[in-house]
Amino acid sequence: MTPGQRPAGSGAAGPIAFVTSICRDLTRSAAAYQALLGYRRAEHAGCREPACVMLRPPHADIGAIHLVERSTAQPTRPWQVRGCAALEIVIRDADEVAARAGAVADVELVGGPRPAGRTRQLRVVHVRGPDGEILYLTRILPAPRRHVLPDRPESLVGRVYSVILAVPDLDQVRGELLAALGGTQISDRRTGLATVALVRGDPVGTDYRLSSLSLAGGCLVEIDEVLGIGRVPPGRFAGPGEVRLSGLAPGTPVPDLGFGTTPGREERE
Ligand SMILES: [Zn+2]
Repeated sequence: MTPGQRPAGSGAAGPIAFVTSICRDLTRSAAAYQALLGYRRAEHAGCREPACVMLRPPHADIGAIHLVERSTAQPTRPWQVRGCAALEIVIRDADEVAARAGAVADVELVGGPRPAGRTRQLRVVHVRGPDGEILYLTRILPAPRRHVLPDRPESLVGRVYSVILAVPDLDQVRGELLAALGGTQISDRRTGLATVALVRGDPVGTDYRLSSLSLAGGCLVEIDEVLGIGRVPPGRFAGPGEVRLSGLAPGTPVPDLGFGTTPGREERE
């Protein structure tokens, strides 16, 4: 970064405190997430969910995953419903994480390890969780031109730093997000997204338009434009398999925008 330049994300909300992942069976999903990620169960007061668990990454009190059970709801598929897509976690080594994913029950490797990103500075592993939800596990190689991503984590798997939204109307959603959260637009391009095509059943090599916004604390919101997908009423979860941005730290409320955000309640430990 050149002297005097504001870091991307400055003045923005963030970092991401926690995301919510909806599951059908809390015991099964918590076991899978803990085995894959090495996260620990943590107390979280003030939550109204009757069946939930907060899983925190080692060495961090942000970037947690709030698993919430909706045992009777129909599962939804990421990138098939407006707002519903994936979460992204920083990792230290993609090959090690891929090997671990292959050994965890109810977790399926769907992509990688492979290089990714416009400047190939990422090495990614994509997995499908117990209810079809998608987790991006991303190693970030040193990227001197941009200082908007998390540092290499101390543990094999670090914190959640990004949520990926699927919307049919990228320009409108980006405008609403920028108005609500602040942040800086750091990309807007068309690119192949192999995992999105796989999950949606689109032809291999399909291009999608995506745009990323940086939030404070090395966090991002990625918006993937997928034309023709369905809507979910604001505040409602589509069903198991969905992940949503639910907590921003410190003390920044998450707006209920009806696309990938659902405010969660959590007091500090
Ligand atoms: Zn809870």
